Parts: sequence; structure tokens; C-alpha cells
Amino acid sequence: MRYTSPTTVDEARSLLAEHPGSRVFAGATDLVPQMRSGRPAPPVLVDLKKIAQLMSVTHENGQWTIGAATPTANLTRNHDFTAMFPGLSEAMGLIGSDQIQNRSSLGGNLANASPAADSVPAMIANGVQAVIATADGTRTVPVAEIVTGPGRTSLADGEFIVEFTLADTPADTSDAYLRMIPRTEMDIAIVGSAVRLTVSDNIITDATVVLGAVAPTAVTVPDAGAALIGAAINAGQIDDSALNTLADAASAACDPIDDKRGTVAYRRRVAGVLTRRAAATAVERAQNGA
Ligand SMILES: Cc1cc2nc3c(=O)[nH]c(=O)nc-3n(C[C@H](O)[C@H](O)[C@H](O)COP(=O)(O)OP(=O)(O)OC[C@H]3O[C@@H](n4cnc5c(N)ncnc54)[C@H](O)[C@@H]3O)c2cc1C
Repeated sequence: MRYTSPTTVDEARSLLAEHPGSRVFAGATDLVPQMRSGRPAPPVLVDLKKIAQLMSVTHENGQWTIGAATPTANLTRNHDFTAMFPGLSEAMGLIGSDQIQNRSSLGGNLANASPAADSVPAMIANGVQAVIATADGTRTVPVAEIVTGPGRTSLADGEFIVEFTLADTPADTSDAYLRMIPRTEMDIAIVGSAVRLTVSDNIITDATVVLGAVAPTAVTVPDAGAALIGAAINAGQIDDSALNTLADAASAACDPIDDKRGTVAYRRRVAGVLTRRAAATAVERAQNGA
């Protein structure tokens, strides 16, 4: 196995083209444990962390551009980013531990294609786009189109994610992410729920709900978003019948596995409960300007 550390996107692209079957990595917090557990090692490993573009975070003209290999700690510690996307930031802040977050990247969390990846539902809820280096250029696709199943992505051999882009939130808009883990620390989600919504004159005017860990890929739940849109807010509380419809829609959208960490019935129920709570938090943030 050969380790390489290109310093430009073009150099990385050439290495991947010259060595079919080679793999990119950023923090290696998924890659190394997987190789240690016996997965075949690629002939060439391409370290993305020496490419400045993949390690930078910029905010210009109402758009954030986040290098795909940037440690998630750089975002959770970024006050402006966290103030604008508190739910996405809290999703990243749940990955592993401080040590893991000093290495883990959004690109790795997405491309590892775990159904339980914490940042993915929150990225989708916020309409994040992925810029992908192809054999001869770039293409940009919504994050929702990258993962096609557990451990599988729509990235072709030799393609890698260069950066993510996301627009500033409109006024009175915020998000929240909650997950359920069977242990109190260092476990992966059995349900994750991301809600982003907009509140105008005490009415929810826009809402997106995305669930993680309850199906082979993250699931956007249009019926759950629809249950919130038009709901009235009284004294900071979402109308109860809208919350009940929301919870039912979230539970109905689940197609989870049944294992020692949670039964199908439990995961479905938790999806409804977490989505109610995430919506309440997002409303509070949207109304308080956070
Ligand atoms: C102790 C521990 C706890 C963890 N807890 C959590 C948790 O709570 N929640 C959670 O979601 N995850 C968790 N993880 C998993 C892991 O930390 C995250 O998925 C992390 O975000 C992966 O990022 P990385 O940069 O380390 O990925 P890497 O290991 O570098 O890469 C992961 C995969 O993505 C590919 N890849 C990496 N970058 C790119 C790119 N730019 N373009 C295309 N493909 C790419 C690699 O080839 C590899 O297949 C945990 C891991 C450990 C070891």
C-alpha cells in the first residue's frame, strides 16, 4: 500500500486515474478502523488534507464554501457558522469525541455512506450541495444524491468531493438535529432527525424534515414538512395537532433494521418523538434569531 499526499485537486485526480482502485481519505476515522477490521486495503491511499482548497472554510456573498476534508471541529468552533446553522453544527458536534472531530470531515461522513452518519440529514435539510472532482472537471449535486445505500455512493471510481456549498439562511429560519443512541457516549444513532423551518408572523411557512438511521439512506419526509407548513405558533409552541401529524408522518417514513440496538417498532416511535422535539427547538431558534 502506497501513501500519497497531493497538494492540488489536479494532482489528486491524476493519482486516482493512474491507480484504479485507489482511495481518498481525510480524517481516516472510518477508513483506518475498517482496514483494521479486515477490509481490503487499497493499493494507493490519497490523503486529501494537504490540498488547501479541501481544508478551507469561506463565507462570501451569502454563500458558505466548506472544503470536504476540513475537520468538523473547525466548523463547530466557527461562531458565525454555528449561529447560522445550529442544527448542522450540533450534528457535527455529535460525531465521536473531540479527538475524532479534530480529524473527521463532512466529505468522509458523507462518502462513508453509513445510514447513521450524523451530519448527513442536517446537510440535506439545509440544501447543501457537493462539488465533485470528476475525471476532467467538476460537477455539483445535492448531498441527497450522493449516498445510494449502506456503504454505496453515486461517486464514480476516481471521483471525490472537493467542497460543499450552502447558502445563508433566509430571515426567521433555523434548524435543529437530534439523535437517539442506546448508550450515553460514543455510539451511533438508531434514529437521527433534522428539521429546518421558517417562521413568519407566528406561522411556519417552510419546513424540511430529514431522518437518518431509519432506512438504507437518509430519508426526506415531505409529509412531515407539509404537516408543519401552515402550523400556528402560540406562545412559542407549535399547534399540537400539527405536531401529532408531524410525528405520525416521521414514524411512517421509517424503514429501519431490527437489531440489538433497537427494534423496528422502537425506532419508528423514537423517530416521531425526536422529530417533534427537533421541530420545537428549530421554532424557538427561528423566533429568537438563532
Ligand atoms: C470512535 C469513533 C466514533 C464515531 N462516532 C461517530 C458518530 O457519532 N457519528 C457519525 O456520524 N460518525 C461517527 N464516526 C465515524 C467517523 O468519524 C465519521 O464518519 C467521520 O465524519 C468520517 O470522516 P473522515 O474524514 O475521518 O473519513 P475517512 O475515514 O477519511 O473516509 C471515510 C470514507 O469516505 C471516503 N472519503 C473521504 N473523503 C472523501 C472525499 N472528499 N470524497 C470522496 N470520498 C471521500 C473514504 O475513501 C472512505 O471511504 C465515529 C468513528 C469513530 C472511530
